[in-house]
Amino acid sequence: MPGLEDLYREIILDHYRTPRNRGELDPPAISAEGYNPLCGDEIRVFISVENGVVSDVRFNGSGCSISQSSTSMMTTAIKGKTVAEVRKIVRRFKHMMTLDEEGDTSPVDESLNLGDLEALQGVVKFPVRIKCATLGWNTLLDALNASPHP
Ligand code: ZN
Repeated sequence: MPGLEDLYREIILDHYRTPRNRGELDPPAISAEGYNPLCGDEIRVFISVENGVVSDVRFNGSGCSISQSSTSMMTTAIKGKTVAEVRKIVRRFKHMMTLDEEGDTSPVDESLNLGDLEALQGVVKFPVRIKCATLGWNTLLDALNASPHP
């Protein structure tokens, strides 16, 4: 499909240049930090969980376009979703990145629309970049797991 890779590149660069939900949240929001030593990417994710819903999310940090744009897209995909829905989205995304947790037999919801995140599927061709693309997601999971309202 000609042009698709260009479109994907544009989406990634757009989120890199104009990150969505960049910033911080004050406590009682929960935060977690992630670091990808292979590339030098750093991400800090802040989430507010209210009544089982991720009511707000922010991130900051620095690193390559893949790590920053993937996290920006992640924030737009999860904001306003229930924690259960967010975990499904994470599962679906990591499956797309060929990173199924070992022993995780929970179903992957293939019908889940990942929107702009589809732009990152080309990353799987470059295994070293998969860590860049999933850094923000693993950091999100750390924050979710630290949440007192799982
Ligand atoms: Zn990177």
